[in-house]
Formats: sequence, structure tokens, C-alpha cells
Amino acid sequence: MTTLAPVGSPNAPEAIKDLIGIGIGPFNLSVAALLDSMPKMNATFFDQKPEFVWHAGLMFPGSILQTSFLKDLVTPVMPTSPHSFVNYLVEQKRFYDFMAGRFNGVSRTEFSAYMTWVAHRLPSTRWDSGVREVSFDGEAFQVELDNGLKSCARNLSVATGMKPNKPDWAAPHIGPTCFHAGDYLHRAASFSGKRVTVIGGGQTGAEIVLDLLTAPGREPAQVSWISNLPRFSPLEEGGFVDQVFTPGYVSTYQTLPRAGKRSEVAGQKLASDGLTPATIDALYEEIYRRKHLANAPDTVTLLPGRNVFALDRDAAGYRIHTDVTACQTAETVSADVIILAIGAKPSLPEFMAPLRDRIDLDPAGVPHLSQDYRMTFDGPSENRIFGLNMGLASHGIVDPQMSLMAWRAGVIVNALAGSQVFDVEPGADIISWPRLDQPVATSLEQAAAAG
Ligand SMILES: Cc1cc2nc3c(=O)[nH]c(=O)nc-3n(C[C@H](O)[C@H](O)[C@H](O)COP(=O)(O)OP(=O)(O)OC[C@H]3O[C@@H](n4cnc5c(N)ncnc54)[C@H](O)[C@@H]3O)c2cc1C
Repeated sequence: MTTLAPVGSPNAPEAIKDLIGIGIGPFNLSVAALLDSMPKMNATFFDQKPEFVWHAGLMFPGSILQTSFLKDLVTPVMPTSPHSFVNYLVEQKRFYDFMAGRFNGVSRTEFSAYMTWVAHRLPSTRWDSGVREVSFDGEAFQVELDNGLKSCARNLSVATGMKPNKPDWAAPHIGPTCFHAGDYLHRAASFSGKRVTVIGGGQTGAEIVLDLLTAPGREPAQVSWISNLPRFSPLEEGGFVDQVFTPGYVSTYQTLPRAGKRSEVAGQKLASDGLTPATIDALYEEIYRRKHLANAPDTVTLLPGRNVFALDRDAAGYRIHTDVTACQTAETVSADVIILAIGAKPSLPEFMAPLRDRIDLDPAGVPHLSQDYRMTFDGPSENRIFGLNMGLASHGIVDPQMSLMAWRAGVIVNALAGSQVFDVEPGADIISWPRLDQPVATSLEQAAAAG
């Protein structure tokens, strides 16, 4: 048996755990919450932060969760769990007030408070526990923390979130006046008298522009908003759109050839990256007010259809060089402060470097995932590495979203347990999605032939 010093007790030998989870964002928290109902499963989850925090740099007071609160950490696969959002409301003595509000959605602030409540009541979570390196000794994964302590487990669940996109043109400039959107509220006190440019036309970009224009005390002289998309488009919503956020859709998506998967993900961009109507309405109203009522039309510039390709800086500030897609010409935007709201991408974290050559990766360095979220690892089959928020290509547009996080956690726990602890079987689909293994015409013909 591996005898490494366990976390919190440097000298005593430690039994091999069933699972170590690395990163406690919503996705591993969902796994931890489900495993809490299985006392025989020995699991520990590590996070580098001192406590649970969810995208604090973008936690605007008015932001609304783009997902139903019923798709919380547990409810879709374990509605009786004590870790549900509804139980949170009940225990906070807030249930009736919440229901009386008939809210269109739950605020991100409240959902974050719910997740914090779950994260700190689970005995399996460990804070101030950044993972430095993971290796494999033939029997178990050895996990070394930044503080030098070690732990080991037969299985891993790696969920450290996506890596912010930092294109080549931005990389040399990253610093106090050119930073990623995730840091926004940590940096944004006053922008008094500054020309601020937000690059990125998704929901995060929209929320930052709205905050720059409306939050008390920000006072930028000018706000420019650049997007490479042809317009600032709303989120696609409704019953038919939301059918892509179902287990049934994921299972049909997985039958598609690579090119089919790529075109599905591209075609569904606005189902996940479009702008929330409430944000668009508030933003439009403020821009209208500035243009027509406050006589301040030059304080906001909206620049869709521009693709940034270079950035330089001189004594007068930054110059952002863009391709104007429709005109096939170039345009330059000046700025004192640049906020990069250009998204993030899946990646294998650095601490997995010792195992990198033993995991099947795509050309971008992202692990290929099986249906049950396992990386293809060349070690023994009983040692599994689950990858969460790494499956945009393998599981489709829903993978980085919270819509199926409890379902995915159920799939992973079932795989760990080797039995169907949670019912994760898709129900009957409303839409007959294209699928390679069972073309619809064939099954109709078969039904007709059968009589
Ligand atoms: C502002 C914002 C709002 C969003 N709103 C929605 C929404 O309304 N609906 C929706 O469906 N999706 C939403 N998303 C998308 C998605 O649900 C979130 O990004 C979600 O947080 C992803 O969860 P995660 O667990 O993969 O990663 P994260 O939340 O990023 O958590 C990763 C964790 O890993 C930890 N970590 C990293 N490295 C290490 C290490 N070496 N050792 C230990 N710990 C480490 C980090 O500290 C962090 O706590 C939103 C995303 C953003 C950015």
C-alpha cells in the first residue's frame, strides 16, 4: 500500500482514497455533494482558495443566473439531497419570500451564497490547498500540494475551470491597464477621465460595459465595446433551444463525426453565449439616455464586426488594430484601459505535466473524454481521471454550462461506484436530433416493417 504523508498530518501513513477532486468550483462541488450521500466512498476535494468563491471579479449585484435554480448542484439526479437550492432557501428561512418574488431568475449573488453554504458544510472539502503536481506510482495518483503536503487516490476528478484566452497580441501587454475580464471588479474602482475599451461581445463584455456606464463612481471619459460578431445578439431561449441542454441531446451529439460536432457547437453559439435580455435592455436604455437625453453621445462607441489583430502602445495610450470584417479594411481604436472579455478555453492544468504523455490529447492539448468523462489514460483501467469542463468537443455546447452539472456528476459517481447509483438515463427526446448510429428514417421504416 502507498504510504504517503496525508494532508494535515505529515507523519502518519494514509490509506489510498477512492477519489481526489482538484478544484472546487461548481462542477466538482456537484460531485462532492452527490458523494456526500455515499459514506463508504472516501473522497477529498482540494482548492487553492481559502474559501469557496465563484467568479468574484464578475459578481455584479444585478447579474442573473442564466440557468434555472432547479438545475442546482444535486436536484436533477437527487432531488432528495439536503444540498439542494430549495433546501438552502428553507434552512435560511427564505423560502416563502423567494417564492413570493416570482423572480425571472435567481441572482448570481444568491446562487453563489448557496454554493458557498454547500461547500462549507461538506466534510470532504479542503481549502488553502493548491495542487502543485500529480503523478502516478502504478497503484494510485500521488497529489502534492503547494504547502508540501501529499495525498493519494485511485481516481482523480480534475475541475480547475477554463483557461482565459490570451491571444498573442494581448500577451505582452497584460498588466494593470490591460487585463482579463475575470479581474474586473478587483481592478475597477474609478476609471475617471479614462478611455476604456472592452473587447468581447458576449455576456461578460455586456455586463462590464453596463457596469462602466452605470455603477456609481466609475466615470470613464469614454467607453468603446468591440465585438468580432456582426451584432450584439440576445441569448437564444425557449423550449426547443433548451433541448440542447439535455442528457438526450448529449448522447446523440456523441454519435456525430468530428465535423458534425464542430458545426453543432458553432451553430449553437447564441444558445450559450448570447446576451441576457435584461442586460441588453438596461444597456440600450442607458445608451439611448446618453445619446438623446443627456447630450453625451460621444461617451459610448459600439463596434461590432471588428476583429482585433494587433495592439501597441505609445505615450498617447493603446492603439487597438482591428479588421473590419464587412469592409475588409482596418480600423484603429485608442484606449487608456483595455478589458479582455474574450472568453476561455478548456485545457489540461500544468500540475498534470508528469502524466501528460500518458493521456490522449487533441492537437490543442485538451484530453479526449469518454462518454463518462474519463480521460484516455494508459494506466490500469481501475485508475480513472475524470475531466470536468474539458468536454466542449466531446460533449457539446452544454459542457461549460451548469445546466447538466448534476447529471454529469451523477455519470461520474456511477462510473466510480461501478453501478447505477443515480438515474442518468435520458428520457424520451422531444426532438429527433441527427444521430449516426440510428438514423430516424431507418427506425421509422423498421417500425413500419414491424407492422
Ligand atoms: C461570470 C460568469 C458567469 C457564469 N454564469 C453562468 C450561468 O449563469 N449559467 C451557466 O450555466 N454557466 C455560467 N457560467 C459558466 C460556468 O458555469 C462557470 O464558469 C463555472 O464556474 C465553471 O465551473 P468549474 O467548476 O469548471 O470552474 P471554476 O468555477 O473556475 O472553479 C475552478 C476552481 O479550481 C480551483 N483551482 C484552480 N487551479 C487549482 C489548483 N492548482 N489547485 C487547487 N485548486 C485549483 C480554483 O480556485 C477554482 O475554485 C458563468 C461563467 C462566468 C465566468
